[in-house]
Amino acid sequence: MVVLGRVGNAIFDFIYPPVCSTCDRVLDRGENYVCGRCWSDFERVPATETFTQLIEQKFLANEAIDGLTSVFLFEQDRRVREAVHLLKYAGAEAIGRTFGKMIARVVAVNEKLAACEAVAPVPLHPARRRERGYNQSELITTSICAELAVRHLPGLLIRKRQTQTQTLLDAEGRRKNISGAFAIGKDFGGSIEGMRVLLVDDVITTGSTIKECARVLKENGALEVYAASAAITV
Ligand SMILES: [Zn+2]
Repeated sequence: MVVLGRVGNAIFDFIYPPVCSTCDRVLDRGENYVCGRCWSDFERVPATETFTQLIEQKFLANEAIDGLTSVFLFEQDRRVREAVHLLKYAGAEAIGRTFGKMIARVVAVNEKLAACEAVAPVPLHPARRRERGYNQSELITTSICAELAVRHLPGLLIRKRQTQTQTLLDAEGRRKNISGAFAIGKDFGGSIEGMRVLLVDDVITTGSTIKECARVLKENGALEVYAASAAITV
């Protein structure tokens, strides 16, 4: 790659201005990857009774999670999937920051979520993290904690084993695949007794990952575990 320097970059941006990844409009100064118009136009999780019931049935019934919130609809909006993809595979930190800010806004106005004493991301296996260079969920939690001034515990959970990709598995297959994959981080044994924790993932689909993480936290003494994600499939 050619190193252009600051002036070179400015000229390059002038000739080839960066465009929005989801609508191709030229980005304004301060916008990264996705334009402000797209962000405000992404399909939001509806705050309807029906939708709340769907979430309760799918993610909370007989599970360790005490409540769940998410900002965008994953399946319904191609642009949301594109943004998540950029965060996950292209190192788009700015997307993680914006997702974090949007989750923080939802958390701040929800009494139970706002009462959480700590925020933790769903961990990647160390080998996967090395390969990717970062944990996309941690980019989101860093931003949430900066917004809300809540304790950030990125090492609260660890992933003990690599799991096969969940994409092709059905709900039962995913549950089995993920079972026993997480443990409490070595610095946190016993220290989360009575704590309310907010667990964060980039996308929640079947919920098998987040449910298993919540189970481990409860087993280790967490009082309440809430979950939040940038996008969700319901
Ligand atoms: Zn756009």
